[in-house]
Amino acid sequence: MSETIVVKIGTSSLTHPERGTLALSTIATLVEVLTDLRQRENRVILVSSGAVGVGCARLGLTNRPRTIAQRQAVAAVGQGRLMRVYDDWFTQLQQPIAQVLLTRGDLEDRERYLNAYNTFQELLDLGAIPIVNENDTVATDELKFGDNDSLSALVASLVEASWLFLLTDVDRLYSADPRLVPDAQPIILVKDLDRLAEVETETKGSQWGTGG
Ligand code: GLU
Repeated sequence: MSETIVVKIGTSSLTHPERGTLALSTIATLVEVLTDLRQRENRVILVSSGAVGVGCARLGLTNRPRTIAQRQAVAAVGQGRLMRVYDDWFTQLQQPIAQVLLTRGDLEDRERYLNAYNTFQELLDLGAIPIVNENDTVATDELKFGDNDSLSALVASLVEASWLFLLTDVDRLYSADPRLVPDAQPIILVKDLDRLAEVETETKGSQWGTGG
């Protein structure tokens, strides 16, 4: 049976933690898996971070920029580069892709929400894999989703997805950040969704990503 599947990948998985350069084998595997899912008649959407991280690597920056304006500028460099890489790999497998950049305002306003909904439906009907990121270059703090985990959940709801997979460099949900708290407990099933707020973490996943 055909399903609508949203997959989110974060900067920490897409890039090498120290150098900030692209993790090419990870991207190649992701591209193969998503194309395979698509060829089995599923509707597939990728939510990909990486614009800021890839932009930093492209510009030779050794630290994630501090100001919003700098991050916006660096994201403009990285987003194009990121899509170029995805398009090169997906083209090897004859899989069309599409870039969709969203801000929170696009999903809060009814008319813009419906526009986004219609565009996704058309793209999925055309057999393309939409690759979604926050439109970092124009998103200021007031317009931000926060992180791509939240964005992917909103996109999953927008496209009425049956599945949302978050690919991260941490193997599951923990009661605290397992890299900082050695006795952090894995959480297998969240029965009470309100409790999730208590395990939210402020720490970054890597030097380049937001940590989600
Ligand atoms: N939109 C940001 C980027 O592409 C990432 C946000 C996140 O990692 O959650 O760099």
